[in-house]
Amino acid sequence: MFDPVEKLKEYVRHPSISADSKFKEGMVGAREFVAGLLTSIGFSVEMAATDLHPIILAKRTGPETWPHVIIYGHYDVQPADPLSLWTSAPFEPEIRGNRMYGRGTADNKGPLMAHIAGVASLLERRPDLPLRITFLIEGEEEMGSPSFSGFLAKYRDRLKADFVLLSDTGIPSEDQVVITCGLRGLMLFDLEVTGSKTDLHSGLHGGVLRNPIQALAEICASLHTPDGRVNIPGYYDDVLDVEPWERQELAKLSGDAESYRNFLGIRKFHTPPGYSPFEAVRFLPTLEFNGIGGGYQGEGTKTVIPSKAFAKISCRLVGNQDPEKIRELVYRTVRERAPDDVSIRIVDQHSGIPYVVVPPGRSNTPKDQSPVLARAFRAADAAIAGVFGKPPLYLREGGSVPIIGEIKKILGLDSLMMGLFLPEDNLHAPNESFHLGILKKGIQASERILESVAGVR
Ligand SMILES: [Zn+2]
Repeated sequence: MFDPVEKLKEYVRHPSISADSKFKEGMVGAREFVAGLLTSIGFSVEMAATDLHPIILAKRTGPETWPHVIIYGHYDVQPADPLSLWTSAPFEPEIRGNRMYGRGTADNKGPLMAHIAGVASLLERRPDLPLRITFLIEGEEEMGSPSFSGFLAKYRDRLKADFVLLSDTGIPSEDQVVITCGLRGLMLFDLEVTGSKTDLHSGLHGGVLRNPIQALAEICASLHTPDGRVNIPGYYDDVLDVEPWERQELAKLSGDAESYRNFLGIRKFHTPPGYSPFEAVRFLPTLEFNGIGGGYQGEGTKTVIPSKAFAKISCRLVGNQDPEKIRELVYRTVRERAPDDVSIRIVDQHSGIPYVVVPPGRSNTPKDQSPVLARAFRAADAAIAGVFGKPPLYLREGGSVPIIGEIKKILGLDSLMMGLFLPEDNLHAPNESFHLGILKKGIQASERILESVAGVR
């Protein structure tokens, strides 16, 4: 069995920044490193070509009667700048205290190493383990996984499995693991309002037309009710009810609203009635204005009636909302509410499907839940309780990982998301690090989960 800490160091040394073409060599290096490591523990590895960075597909095959788990991860990392804020060089991993510092240590090289090392240790102990395992490790996650759904569709027949296991989500503290049971989806668009054909002098023409900034503000202001709900007919129709167990589970997460309010630096929460701020961020959809503009933005004054105004708008969606259905509802409402003396143009931006999975034994667990998935959840509960000293919490999250919804839609598979990184790991920021104690426990937990899923523990 290899030394996981040394292997993680080697892995982090490859600067695999997917978004920057100058780091092509780092991408190749990281990919070949992982492929070599998986080959060394008995996997047959192939690289699936994409338009940009190939996807690693590594298999341990066996009879169809064996359960099949797909372990997902990504080998690409975020850019490291601003470099001046790093204490040690981002691609020269350094251990200080119980942490390894370096870009990608926590997102996602360390957590992926936990699973690779867990599998390695398990296969060393049980070379005849009755479990099929496929590692699926992509190189475009930090760019929004542009090739991933095309890959899933193309390889669908070879990715028939029972469930997906991954660690690319967070936990609140060293001893409290969270299994993420839901992610919000997304639907984004740009809205442009045009009044006159060019900018106009507000003295010569002011008073004869509706200013497009005013028209845009009127449309935007109509999209929420005063109590903070989204004011679009049908918007909440498909929103999943919050189950009592979900509220109880969330209540165990020791958060207090007043310190959250202070952390945000806001005067008051503006949360729809019936939901705490912690609930609203997980269980409710939103509609947000990410940018708004038009007219003169420079120094001093300019008495202009601008020709155009624009807004960038995004909706976070929850299970079981369909992003394309929401897109239609929102667009229709915006068109209906636009004053008839301006013209509007809507430009589609990307979307992502929300995701929810219910652990076995809860009141709303689907009756047709796969027995292997149910076994995996039970195994994770026991393994995490045993290794970390406390059972995991089962929580939905406010953020979005669109590939999880894509996996569900295209492959029909649910995901067991075992969080491993901490708030202080500084993902995407300078001085990213990963807690080596969590690496060790993550290895043990992964090993125990897979042993149970195989039915031999
Ligand atoms: Zn990640």
